[in-house]
Amino acid sequence: MDLVCLDLEGVLIPEIWIAFAKKTGIESLTATTRDIPDYNVLMRQRLNILADNNLSINDIQDVIATLEPMPGALTFLDQLRESYQVIILSDTFYEFGQSFMAQLNWPTLFCHKLEVDNKGMVTDYHLRQVDPKRNAVEALQKLNFRVFAAGDSYNDTTMLAAADKGFLFRAPQNVIAEFPQYSVTSEYDALRAFFDQASEE
Ligand SMILES: [Mg+2]
Repeated sequence: MDLVCLDLEGVLIPEIWIAFAKKTGIESLTATTRDIPDYNVLMRQRLNILADNNLSINDIQDVIATLEPMPGALTFLDQLRESYQVIILSDTFYEFGQSFMAQLNWPTLFCHKLEVDNKGMVTDYHLRQVDPKRNAVEALQKLNFRVFAAGDSYNDTTMLAAADKGFLFRAPQNVIAEFPQYSVTSEYDALRAFFDQASEE
């Protein structure tokens, strides 16, 4: 049995924080782990910015609801799910991913969770586990699935390494250069062909 694990942001949907920053015009929210390598420091900064701008979870979800998956993503995913069990492994939060999942016909999503107070303000966040993408792949392999995976960035590389076959999709040049062992493409049709080829091996 073959199963496909896909990264979410940069593969099926735009980077949520970046897109959210553009929509709201809050420039300081465009910082990523490339600017602030410590994820916890980055997340604290993001939560402070949300509080400073008095943005509740409802405000945030309203803005995110105006964002769309990447062109072609829905068709790619729908067709992929006809042939494979598909699980999306993401470092986003359920509260942010929700509207995208509705637009993508509710695929299975494993990600993290926010803590929201009774006024709707985001007060904290909870990462489900350390190295969640790799752990998910290894758990699925223990269930006797052969796992193929695709992602675009550093936070996907342990998932790609654990998978029976891993691919880079729309990855930045530095990631491609650092991980030359993975085939890379920027087209959904080609990615689908990679999975089918791996499945035939
Ligand atoms: Mg990504």
